Amino acid sequence: MKQRRSTIPHNNDNGADNAVSRTPVPRPQSAHPAHGGTTPSSSGAMATLLAPHLFEAAPDALAVVDHHGALILVNGQLETLFGYDRSDLLGQVVELLIPESLRMAHTQHRAHYALAPHARAMGEKLSLFGRRRDGSEFPVEISLSPIEVEDSTLVMAIIRDVTARKQLETALQASVRAAESHLHLLQTVLDQLPSGVFLARGPQARLVLANRAAANLWGATWSADQTMANFISKSGIRFFGPTGQPCPVEQIPTLRALRTGEQIVQAQLRVTRADGISVPVLVTAVPLPASLFTSASATNRGEAAHGQVGAKNAEERMVLVVYQDVTMLEETERVKDEFVTLAAHELRTPIAVASGYAQMLLRVPDETAVPSDASTLDSWQEEALRDIASAMTRLTALTDDLLDVTKLQAGRLQLSREPHDLVALARRICRRMQATTAHHQIHLAVPDEPLVADLDVRRVEQVLHNLLSNAIKYSVDGGPITVTLQAVEGPGPKRQRTRMAEIIVQDHGLGIPADQQPTIFERFSRARNAQEHGIDGTGLGLYLSRELLAAHGGSIWFDSVEGQGSTFHVLLPLLEPAMTD
Ligand code: ADP
Repeated sequence: MKQRRSTIPHNNDNGADNAVSRTPVPRPQSAHPAHGGTTPSSSGAMATLLAPHLFEAAPDALAVVDHHGALILVNGQLETLFGYDRSDLLGQVVELLIPESLRMAHTQHRAHYALAPHARAMGEKLSLFGRRRDGSEFPVEISLSPIEVEDSTLVMAIIRDVTARKQLETALQASVRAAESHLHLLQTVLDQLPSGVFLARGPQARLVLANRAAANLWGATWSADQTMANFISKSGIRFFGPTGQPCPVEQIPTLRALRTGEQIVQAQLRVTRADGISVPVLVTAVPLPASLFTSASATNRGEAAHGQVGAKNAEERMVLVVYQDVTMLEETERVKDEFVTLAAHELRTPIAVASGYAQMLLRVPDETAVPSDASTLDSWQEEALRDIASAMTRLTALTDDLLDVTKLQAGRLQLSREPHDLVALARRICRRMQATTAHHQIHLAVPDEPLVADLDVRRVEQVLHNLLSNAIKYSVDGGPITVTLQAVEGPGPKRQRTRMAEIIVQDHGLGIPADQQPTIFERFSRARNAQEHGIDGTGLGLYLSRELLAAHGGSIWFDSVEGQGSTFHVLLPLLEPAMTD
């Protein structure tokens, strides 16, 4: 092919005339106004002078092609990009710069373009490739602009190497795919779990993903990105607290954890579905670091694919929520409580009969109470009867405790309260307990004035009785036991503090091992050392005491050192003096 010079030729062979954008180019002779017949402005002359320099200075590779597809002008960037010298290119068809496999198609495209030349911007989603002199290929983006020169239309191409961008896009797509497959794996794993598990984000608790068990529990579908409030109102789900009161929206563990960042562990909740089915659940809500969230949720919503990963939601908190359905557990508890109640009730009568006869027989030696011909008991018989009577007393206490526990569990324990002097109550119980032991000395310290509280007398006696009988039982070597009763200021803000009565029961017995202290108020909880010493007990007394005191608005706590002894503290609200008049 004949070589051409790198000037814009005057070509009369023009194609179609309907170009969208054409750039009129001054004729070359306009650079020499003296010979041109007209007098162009000095700025026009300057532009003409500058044009070749601008062409060279452009940051992209530029080429001008004539209507035969021949390269008639290229800049230095193009030489560098394709690895050719300018002299090797000028006059060659532009397909030289295109991979061989695409050349034929490109020739047809070019012919088609020549029929209706129009401006084509970069990045119009065409997948284009260039070919270097050494045969290597690379992705390019090309913009085209028709240039009308006299009767001919030239085309200027701006060529940009997009290798780096394509590599980035490929890497991004790979990471989106990886994130999606991780999410898919996570969903598959979560779907196998028996508990309802879901992830929500942001202060409105928008769903990220939920497993199958959660959807079954709700009986409704919470869609990805839907807010919790919207889901609740659309699905008709309602939440209730452990005592059956409606749970305000802001108290729902998911929202609480998202808004405050607090971790909620095993909160009791009842979820009532639109179909009326009510499911008791234990809810755990664990706030997660925002960094975990950005990829998971963004990918879920396809944002990663659009390059929006992380930016918008970096501040949002995400929370992992687990709903443990405790229907079975609740049912088992109910059946167990029913059985215990029934058994305790049924035991009461035979225990009362056996206990009554034992007491009666023990009173036989009393001459005044029996006919003169009644036989007296042998000492072994009397001893056996005393054992029976004390076993019966223990059995009565056990059945009473069991009945109390089941009543408490079912919320059926009712207090019958009246104003009562705690000083008198403490004196009474200490006297009664002192009569049961010769090895211990109970010392009582009380104020001079009465301390009146609104009490279920029998229940508070039961608490003090339990604390004193423990002090006696677990002080195996005997010794002093101190009971102190005093008026103190209750906890809370200064102005609102109420007067409280504090009862302190101190012994110097076995003490409670430190590792078992946190659980000692739980039902059936017994310390290791108590059992090692073979001391009888049920582990119900402290549990009942705590619940009974709580029902009075009071509280109980203790200090204990194993081998040194224990000090139990009880607080009970006192009635204001005016109320006791
Ligand atoms: P019980 O005494 O019938 O086992 P409680 O609920 O009253 O049940 O007490 C629970 C456990 O706490 C006891 O088994 C014992 O291990 C421990 N405990 C309670 N009071 C004392 C005490 N004063 N000294 C040492 N251990 C105690």
